[in-house]
Amino acid sequence: MESKIRKLHQDLSSQKISCEELVQGKLDELKINAQNSANFLLNDYAIEKARKVDEKIKKGEKINLLEGIPFGVKDVFLLQEQIASASSDFLKKYKSPYTATAIQKLIDAGAIPIVKENCDSFGHGSTNENSIFGAVKNANNENLVSGGSSGGSAVNVAKEYTVFSIGGDTGGSIRQPAGFNNVYGLKPSYGRVSRFGIMAYASSTDCVGPIASSTEDIAIVMNIISGKDTKDQTTFESNDINLSEKINPQSITVGYYTEFIENEGLNPKIKSDFLNVLEQLKKNNVKVKPLNFPNTEALVSTYYAVVMAETASNLARLDGSMYGNRIEADNLKESYLITRSENFTEESKRRIVGGNQVLSQGHSDDIYIKARKIRTVLTNNINDDLKQVDILISPLSPSNPPEIGNSLKNPMEMYLSDIYTVGFSLAELPTLTAPIGTDTGIQITSSKAQEELILKFTNLLNELI
Ligand code: GLN
Repeated sequence: MESKIRKLHQDLSSQKISCEELVQGKLDELKINAQNSANFLLNDYAIEKARKVDEKIKKGEKINLLEGIPFGVKDVFLLQEQIASASSDFLKKYKSPYTATAIQKLIDAGAIPIVKENCDSFGHGSTNENSIFGAVKNANNENLVSGGSSGGSAVNVAKEYTVFSIGGDTGGSIRQPAGFNNVYGLKPSYGRVSRFGIMAYASSTDCVGPIASSTEDIAIVMNIISGKDTKDQTTFESNDINLSEKINPQSITVGYYTEFIENEGLNPKIKSDFLNVLEQLKKNNVKVKPLNFPNTEALVSTYYAVVMAETASNLARLDGSMYGNRIEADNLKESYLITRSENFTEESKRRIVGGNQVLSQGHSDDIYIKARKIRTVLTNNINDDLKQVDILISPLSPSNPPEIGNSLKNPMEMYLSDIYTVGFSLAELPTLTAPIGTDTGIQITSSKAQEELILKFTNLLNELI
């Protein structure tokens, strides 16, 4: 798939289309979209920026590659003076005092944010049904979920309402909706992109990354948003991604976890399609190595113990005194209680209660501290495996997107559907979902900071499969 960003850049530069027409067209589509993917349209803001780009082009000035390119922003990012609702009652009228670093870098490069996108409230979910604005519908079938939590972002890219979108991924929220809607979604290495200005879900695994329709567009966006940020001390400097050179199939070893494939919950069609990918690789002289993941059953429980603890802590700041919707009561304590109980969704409350439980005296050693220890073991295991192979591939999810409404009946089942994505989050590793091989794509992982290798391998897969 060719780069949409490059194509539009040419069209804008050659005045085949004006930036205002381009942006207005996308805004119009978003306004009437049947998937419910948009929380807030940035109409006046975006049109004003588009007109400035047009003025520049008319004057004969050169524009940057991203200048005038419309993009979407998951509604958990701050964009100054615009609402950042996190799809919650709490913040549905909350206006951002400043702009998130990743979004600011894109704006500085000339890209134009046009929409705050529907998502699971505070990033809590795998189906994008946990939103006060209602479920986001799958781009390919409106009866099915879009996947979550960055569902609006993936659907907007799939339907071409945005050229790319910026999502957040704590345990799969970029990768899973990308796979469910057949587009590319990259969870970068933890720390490659600043988290400043994204509402914190689980600070130790939160990552900011792009959803787009080609590897090239993923790379273009990554090269703008990556880098050290003094406002996020976990960030690191990274080299630009350059996809011009191809990789040689013989030079690469690909690993996969047999336990992931033998998992009884795995849909048989996804399994056979995944095995077929392995066969194709072997036929094309790629070395394929089966690996073991001895603690598969610990993945989901470890992840949820860690992230529930962190989200309970992070969301403690929302009590009506500093941000968002406050409900007055007889006294301060009652006001906190009613504000929190009325403004969080059921799913977010479940996680806050669970998180406070795992952190509480008498339980924290058994659950939270233990989960942190298991996280270290899991991380070391995956990193050891990545000494033997260059790339790990895995299915995205055990099943295809469920029908809207089904997952709400069984939160446990929804948590279990995260089995293949959460391990790479706990291990801080870069992982891409590519729409290749199975109906929900495949996940491609490599060592920390090896995003370029992942994208080059994806280009190879696109040639071979
Ligand atoms: N589905 C996972 C969860 O609910 C991942 C969410 C995310 O990455 N924000 O925690």
